[in-house]
Amino acid sequence: MTPPPRSRERESTTVAIVGGGVSGLTAAILLRACGIDAVVLERRSRSYVEERQRAGVVEYRAVHMFERWGLGDVLHGFPGDDFMEIRVDGQPRLLGENMPGLADTGRLVPQQALVRGLIAALLADGADLRFEASDVALHHVEGERPLVTYAGQDGRAHEIECDFVAGCDGDRGICAASIPADAGEVHAYDYGIWWLTILADAPPPERPLMAVGMRGYAAQFARGPKASRFYLHVAAGDTVADWPHDRIWAELKARLHAPDLPAGPITATEVFPLRSAIREPMSHGRLYLLGDAAHIIPPMGAKGMNLALFDAEAFATAVRDFTAAGDETGLRGYSATCLERTWRYQEFSNWMADMMHGASGHPVGGGGTFRQRIMRARLERVLSSDVAARYYAEMFTGLG
Ligand SMILES: Cc1cc2nc3c(=O)[nH]c(=O)nc-3n(C[C@H](O)[C@H](O)[C@H](O)COP(=O)(O)OP(=O)(O)OC[C@H]3O[C@@H](n4cnc5c(N)ncnc54)[C@H](O)[C@@H]3O)c2cc1C
Repeated sequence: MTPPPRSRERESTTVAIVGGGVSGLTAAILLRACGIDAVVLERRSRSYVEERQRAGVVEYRAVHMFERWGLGDVLHGFPGDDFMEIRVDGQPRLLGENMPGLADTGRLVPQQALVRGLIAALLADGADLRFEASDVALHHVEGERPLVTYAGQDGRAHEIECDFVAGCDGDRGICAASIPADAGEVHAYDYGIWWLTILADAPPPERPLMAVGMRGYAAQFARGPKASRFYLHVAAGDTVADWPHDRIWAELKARLHAPDLPAGPITATEVFPLRSAIREPMSHGRLYLLGDAAHIIPPMGAKGMNLALFDAEAFATAVRDFTAAGDETGLRGYSATCLERTWRYQEFSNWMADMMHGASGHPVGGGGTFRQRIMRARLERVLSSDVAARYYAEMFTGLG
């Protein structure tokens, strides 16, 4: 438990960033590249944040973003595959196989590798990252100089006065919660679909792999040279206890049509519902929400981390333009700019989820065999038409 605060120290900075995940660290490094000072307050320890495994693909658009800022080195990963394999009833099909221009789809950078790269680069550059900051609270975000209070590792109370607060504290964080309920709205959607995901020390597939079949949807993606993330569609309400390791491996082998799938040690297991929630607007006074603090998107389509990166750049450039020249255009347009991309990616994720689950016998929202056949027809069209595959390619790369 955090000891009670003993004394207060007031400091001042331009941007107080709450949360040291992908969005917070990226905002910090981009602001720093503009010569703007920022303090990052992260609730967890450095080692916890660096080990937390989630997303795996930095889209092509975001790879270019880092390179444009001269920060390509933070992306320690390996090039992504050109094509996704969709295994339909056990038959391998390649998405976009015959389509020119689908090279360079992105970089396979597991989220924790990106986080490690960002933290190392920030600390090497003397950035102010404060881990194990507890009881973070926001005050006066509607005024000219917001105040952020927190208790440091030593239990002492601190106050940071700032020009802007970047709310980068993820889903259900304190930043979004501090916005009055009548100051905006949240567009929420529950897909009624639940996934089980595991991380395992199992060799990755030759290509990113999604399997469609009447037993249900499954997928396997690389998370490094010797690790894979697997997904299984499971019954709504299932818990980790319903899925002992041998049941998971048996189901994966059956759905992936891979009887020889190597079953390495499972290092993490999670069960969660697919859901979306988009907060509008993404700012309130001088508080700006970035990443999951503003919008949640199902992992289908691999866009959550990439939206966090997009928001970070939009925020950093807006603050840069304001501090350098008093230009408020970027700040005023921040929410609209980010929401426009968010909705595009929500539509993509929704389109994918409909298609993959419907084609696997479980149409989102029901609809029985009619919707199953419609989604099979959609999938077949994407797999056989370059025009249809181009939509997928544009969205997956982030260039659409
Ligand atoms: C199982 C899983 C698989 C996923 N797969 C993909 C994928 O393949 N592709 C993809 O693009 N995305 C994927 N995502 C989504 C992606 O991980 C998130 O969208 C991304 O982490 C968002 O980054 P963020 O910085 O907004 O939030 P986070 O990464 O959640 O970072 C928020 C940070 O804020 C800190 N924090 C929280 N509260 C406080 C507080 N009060 N004070 C201080 N700090 C606080 C947290 O400790 C955390 O470090 C996946 C997510 C999950 C759970």
